[in-house]
Amino acid sequence: MDILIKQARLSDGEALQDVGIKDGKIVAISESITENSVTVIEAQGRVLIPGLVESHIHLDKALIADRKPNKSGTLQEAISVTAELKPTFTEEDIYARAKRALEMIISHGVTAVRTHAEFDPAQGFSGFKTIMKLKEEYRDLIDMQIVAFPQEGIFKAPGTEKMMYEAMEMGADVVGGIPYNDAPADKHIDLVFEIAKKYDKDIDLHQDFSDEATDISIEYLCKKTIAENYHGRVSVGHLTALHALEPERLNEIIALMAEAQISVMALPATDLHLGARNDLYNVRRAVTPIRKLRDVGVNVCLATNNIRNAFTPYGNGDLMQIAMLAIPVGHLGGADDLPTVLPMITDNPAKALGLQHYGLQVGDNADLVLLDTKVKADAIIDIPERNYVIKNGKITVEVKKEVTIFK
Ligand SMILES: [Zn+2]
Repeated sequence: MDILIKQARLSDGEALQDVGIKDGKIVAISESITENSVTVIEAQGRVLIPGLVESHIHLDKALIADRKPNKSGTLQEAISVTAELKPTFTEEDIYARAKRALEMIISHGVTAVRTHAEFDPAQGFSGFKTIMKLKEEYRDLIDMQIVAFPQEGIFKAPGTEKMMYEAMEMGADVVGGIPYNDAPADKHIDLVFEIAKKYDKDIDLHQDFSDEATDISIEYLCKKTIAENYHGRVSVGHLTALHALEPERLNEIIALMAEAQISVMALPATDLHLGARNDLYNVRRAVTPIRKLRDVGVNVCLATNNIRNAFTPYGNGDLMQIAMLAIPVGHLGGADDLPTVLPMITDNPAKALGLQHYGLQVGDNADLVLLDTKVKADAIIDIPERNYVIKNGKITVEVKKEVTIFK
């Protein structure tokens, strides 16, 4: 074997297990493996989980918060500030920042990521091409899916429609879109489907990012997904406007989403920062209704979105901190709720991204994280050190921390 992890906690209340890894795969799981191994990791009861999956992040515009601040804290100013900055980005600049952000998430245990790489006639493809280059360079450390993302809209930024097709030709993995920042939203969605069907790719939209539910297109998206037989191939980020719907109408929409098997990426770090800026009192949480979606069977994921820019002026690339943030925000701290949170950064996004052989069974890819905690139920609330990150059966990150307290 290449790596043998001794005495790891795979689930609470069950015996500790040895996990054997060879040629990038999990080849054995049992209470005692005696076979020789090149590397042995003594887990000593610490929790072993599959690699974290970052399902929605913008690497190309990470780490620019110091260049031009978003003073109002609104979504409108975040978009306009970033649109002003983008034409000043050089490829070297994008490369250096995106690489740093990528290494931040890898060091925190992410082994697969879906990143939105944007382009528009003003910026061109400098960001998109840089992210494509990083995908290749980091292929041994992380699986990357690149979404062709028209941040400035398609119809309102003439020339972008052609660029969408060019991005697909250059190798984008997923068709992106942003119906709320374009008009008409239904035509935007129709075009995204046309492109997705042409290239047989999945769809991932920035959807209904608003405090109010007066002008939403999620219903249209669900109906289109069902009509095009695209069940399970469409994801949406934000979807904050759902929070503003009365229960009866919300239930109708969520049932439709479940039927269309649409995955939702809740983005609490961004949504809490930009949302509800006009509320002078009783300020709303402005995050998609995570519990309700989950309870009706919608596949809910938690993701980072942005790291230190006009949309989200903080963050260190740790998906576990995002999950911890979602616990109080989404009322997910109850005894029955807490165990549903870890899957929102592991199994659920793996499903949304269509990852194959993901998990902790014999035969699955050896993409694993050993956490410095001994209770799986506490995997998020401890925000534990990621002692080892293993990708394709190789150790990619090793963290040792010693604390000495003098008395
Ligand atoms: Zn986003």
